[in-house]
Amino acid sequence: MNQEFLERMDSYIEGLFVESDPALRAAVESSKNAGLPEIQISPNQGKFLRLLAELSGARRILEIGTLGGYSGIHFARSLPEDGVLISLELEERHAEVARENFERAGVAEKVEIRVGDAKAMMREMAERGDEEPFDLVFIDAEKEGYLEYLDLSLELSRPGTLIIADNVVRGGRVLEEGNMMREFNEKFAAHERLSGIIVPLIREYVDGVALARVK
Ligand code: MG
Repeated sequence: MNQEFLERMDSYIEGLFVESDPALRAAVESSKNAGLPEIQISPNQGKFLRLLAELSGARRILEIGTLGGYSGIHFARSLPEDGVLISLELEERHAEVARENFERAGVAEKVEIRVGDAKAMMREMAERGDEEPFDLVFIDAEKEGYLEYLDLSLELSRPGTLIIADNVVRGGRVLEEGNMMREFNEKFAAHERLSGIIVPLIREYVDGVALARVK
């Protein structure tokens, strides 16, 4: 599958299912202007994640890796009136951009960005044990951390929680021996507390999400 084909396919689906949205366009623009890495999810993936969140009926969503808030806007929009998105971000300057983007999208009231080391924050949440478990967890931070993020996500989950991890196909690089995402995918697939699958998603390359229901 060449890149042109993938882009055409991606655009075709986007043209059918994704409405042009000023707040989302502005989120992409402002993130770019602020010099954030342009690694946000694609419009089609945003629609897909929002649909998954709505189908799961999630009221409490945890996102690991806020970046400019592009995926967070989709999650926040999926939430019911009393829902909350807690989004963890290492970089204060990313969080600043994201705050503005959530504000512009009209979802700021439903979003709490916590700045700091996500693992430490998750560990602390788990130890305190005073938060309700999350209904959906989206792992989309630095890939070296995925194995630990998964363990910590499970500690903050209940049976039925949906765990989604982004970028697990990596343009097919995951097929190569030694690719670091392989270990994560193997653990995710074989985990006794998870029932899941990888869904490949196309944009100008093929990537994908691992998703699973906590048993
Ligand atoms: Mg990602």
